[in-house]
Amino acid sequence: MARVFNFSAGPAMLPESVLKKAAEEMTDYKNTGMSVMEMSHRSKSYEEIINGAEKTLREIMNIPDNYYILFLQGGASLQFAMVPLNLFRKSKKADYINTGVWSKKAISEAKKYGIVNIVASSEDKKFIEIPQLVPSRFSKDADYFHITMNNTIEGTVFRELPETGDVPLVADMSSNILSEEIDVRKFGLIYAGAQKNIGSAGVTVVIIRNDLVGNAIPMTPTMLDYKIHVENKSLYNTPPCYAIYIAKLIFEWVKEQGGIKAIEERNRAKADMLYKALDESKLFKAVVIDKKCRSIMNVPFTLPSEELDAKFLNGAKKVGLVTLKGHRSVGGLRASIYNAMPVDGVKKLVEFIKDFEGGKNAN
Ligand code: PMP
Repeated sequence: MARVFNFSAGPAMLPESVLKKAAEEMTDYKNTGMSVMEMSHRSKSYEEIINGAEKTLREIMNIPDNYYILFLQGGASLQFAMVPLNLFRKSKKADYINTGVWSKKAISEAKKYGIVNIVASSEDKKFIEIPQLVPSRFSKDADYFHITMNNTIEGTVFRELPETGDVPLVADMSSNILSEEIDVRKFGLIYAGAQKNIGSAGVTVVIIRNDLVGNAIPMTPTMLDYKIHVENKSLYNTPPCYAIYIAKLIFEWVKEQGGIKAIEERNRAKADMLYKALDESKLFKAVVIDKKCRSIMNVPFTLPSEELDAKFLNGAKKVGLVTLKGHRSVGGLRASIYNAMPVDGVKKLVEFIKDFEGGKNAN
């Protein structure tokens, strides 16, 4: 079957060239006579893979030397616990902004280990916008300040970062890492599950400033202590070897594309095209109205009825546009247009949206 345009929120589409390279190297990685999947994580060949992944990520994200890069397991969800376990080191207080389903999960996990102060929330608006920030509400003595930078389910993104002064800013970038240029120095810690813009599920990237390592609360399980992973260069135990290898190929692909700047331009063009079609439509509606906080990665939208949703999904699938259903918690429709989604995929979706409205694909 021909490859489809897959609008899944994650695991998501990967660049075809990366999949082909992985396929070519599947049974014999660089003359080793074995697959990366079969290789010892202590071997020279594997060391080159994990070091290469780190080096290229540092280069494309411009990560300064005083930040460590870790390749961990447990998904972004485990970071909801690792962050408080490691960063509640003085006041045991943290500020959180509540912007959606994933923030709520991060908040409820952190509450197990210390005091969580929700300094802004858009829950009363059903999370369709990023809330107004009032810096006087921020806690000066917080151990850290947490945001979910891009809200995968709700389709919002922080365009302006909160000014947190000396309080380290921690960001869940699971659904926007590598999609736009960011200044790593503004953050104390960044984490992201891989299954959107980094590669295949199974590895979570953590970028952490060195002064934040080594303060885990004593009950922290060994495997959840950043210090252990820093000291062992992410090889304390067997890492998700193959997922790290795919991540390395993706980082190299980002570089080949002209880096994050070039990718960001393409992402903006794709998102603009889709939002324009939705804004011009009388039938479809973008869920996020405030243009300032519209995500360029996840675009939730609606039709007036569930019957029309079903017709839309059915018709779209027939022309190779798949996984456009909204998250089960909010319903409706959603197009996730991560880095690997080609411009042509979004063009085809826009055409389909127009045809559907015009009645061409109504069956
Ligand atoms: N944070 C965000 C912003 C997400 O989108 C997701 C998953 N889609 C998660 C956290 C949870 O990630 P994981 O499934 O890797 O634990």
